[in-house]
Amino acid sequence: MSLRVAVVGAGPAGIYASDLLIRNQEHDIHVDLFEQMPAPFGLIRYGVAPDHPRIKGIVKSLHNVLDKPKLRLLGNITVGRDISIDELRDYYDAVVLSTGAVRDRELLVPGGEKSIGAGEFVGFYDGNPRFERNWDLSAKEVAVIGVGNVALDVSRVLAKTGDELLVTEIPDNVYESLRGNQAETVHMFGRRGPAQAKFTPKELRELDESETIQVLVDPEDIDYDELSEEVRRADKSVDLVCQVLEQYAMREPDDSPHKIHIHFFEEPVEVLTDDAGAVVGLRTERQELDGQGGIRGTGKFTDWPVQQVYHAVGYRSEPVEGVPFDLERHVIPNDGGHVLASAEEGAGIENKLYVTGWIKRGPIGLIGNTKSDAKETTDMLVADAAAGALAAPSHTGEDDILDLLRSRGVDYTTWEGWYKLDEAERAAGAADATRPRERKKIVEWEDMLSHSRAGGGVGHQHVGGLLRVGLGRYVHRIDTSVRRVDFSRQNRHVRAWGLDSLSAA
Ligand SMILES: Cc1cc2nc3c(=O)[nH]c(=O)nc-3n(C[C@H](O)[C@H](O)[C@H](O)COP(=O)(O)OP(=O)(O)OC[C@H]3O[C@@H](n4cnc5c(N)ncnc54)[C@H](O)[C@@H]3O)c2cc1C
Repeated sequence: MSLRVAVVGAGPAGIYASDLLIRNQEHDIHVDLFEQMPAPFGLIRYGVAPDHPRIKGIVKSLHNVLDKPKLRLLGNITVGRDISIDELRDYYDAVVLSTGAVRDRELLVPGGEKSIGAGEFVGFYDGNPRFERNWDLSAKEVAVIGVGNVALDVSRVLAKTGDELLVTEIPDNVYESLRGNQAETVHMFGRRGPAQAKFTPKELRELDESETIQVLVDPEDIDYDELSEEVRRADKSVDLVCQVLEQYAMREPDDSPHKIHIHFFEEPVEVLTDDAGAVVGLRTERQELDGQGGIRGTGKFTDWPVQQVYHAVGYRSEPVEGVPFDLERHVIPNDGGHVLASAEEGAGIENKLYVTGWIKRGPIGLIGNTKSDAKETTDMLVADAAAGALAAPSHTGEDDILDLLRSRGVDYTTWEGWYKLDEAERAAGAADATRPRERKKIVEWEDMLSHSRAGGGVGHQHVGGLLRVGLGRYVHRIDTSVRRVDFSRQNRHVRAWGLDSLSAA
């Protein structure tokens, strides 16, 4: 049987799912991979910290998948806005949603709105065009709430010097902000104990690898009850994390210029501000183990003098227009692979719709975990196809979807375009006057598009389409998807067509 599948989201989950589908031995499956950013790779590009080249290197194996002829990347397309889910159902035999997560969960304590979500900072330092270009790093003492790997990334980047990070792919604007970083002390806070921390051992050890950083733990925070000991015995990774923390707790402070203190049993209860609204501290309440797997407050409060607070208390997925969404769990309701009509018990299956990755099970787990997700989901899809359960699409031509996109002036990017952007980033890295390196990221959305179009290609056809038919729609697309846009290039086009300003259109 021959099938055409749309996969929405070119992060690891979407790429692994595409790989399994195109390699299927029983059916001849072709995949179109839709991605809202001009470049693929999801949180590997815009989440994994720049000083984790080993993890960023996973991109190499994903490259091999995207190189395959049965897979076609269509970037710079937001599904649910540029093209609807029902349209995809009408053009494909099945649709797999793998839209991941980008936003932060809120910090629900008084003053919590003054705390910065880790995702905002990650978006900045990883050069995501949807996030800030400059970052205020004037605080000498900083709090990071959370004891998981994202909290480790944020703390490590805050404690490193800009020059240490210059060997990585960070763009110029990020280096400029980090160069002025004043942070000397970073306090990380977890409300429970070492055995309940969400770190992975390798990442926790890496926190201490910089010569300018010393990691410290108060020996009083190393405490386990019977249940915590059981968890340690049952889970090798938890035990290793506890061992690393115990080593950190045995040290005396040295003369390293940057200190990261990891605090346990301190529950943040308020972000403290002065009359002008500036952050001046974080109040925590000391907790103790209750012997039954939980903790209880002791009524002992501490005010930590910090001038900036970050919270890394979890990422959050966003709904996709036209797809059911579980507003409590922030996932697409599913039975392990099929999208369900709602989160209510007994809800039926949505025909032809499947889900995988973080949007399927919530924002927990490493890149490797998305592989097993993808297997479960694609197995269901293939079984449904074999059982004849997928309604046939009305459009069957391979390029019908491209005709639709072009008719709307959707400025999509392609895999060929990624090669050009990749080449431009590598060239920028090699040519960097301060520190030549493997890659320097290109940040601006328009710059990414223009590099993807270099030497001709889809973008060129596209700009024509934009000016011909899609002006109002294009403006809307920029306004809602990009926080900071330089309209000048578009304005030049628009003036040429006798209009005053794109933003006013
Ligand atoms: C800060 C941070 C650091 C991390 N570091 C590591 C690490 O060091 N090692 C590790 O193994 N894991 C790490 N992870 C976890 C890893 O990133 C995730 O496990 C993985 O990215 C989840 O894959 P995904 O494909 O489900 O989601 P994502 O990677 O989020 O990919 C989803 C893709 O869908 C696209 N998309 C969303 N909505 C739409 C739409 N409507 N239309 C079209 N496209 C859309 C997004 O742009 C994105 O490209 C980290 C995560 C974070 C947040």
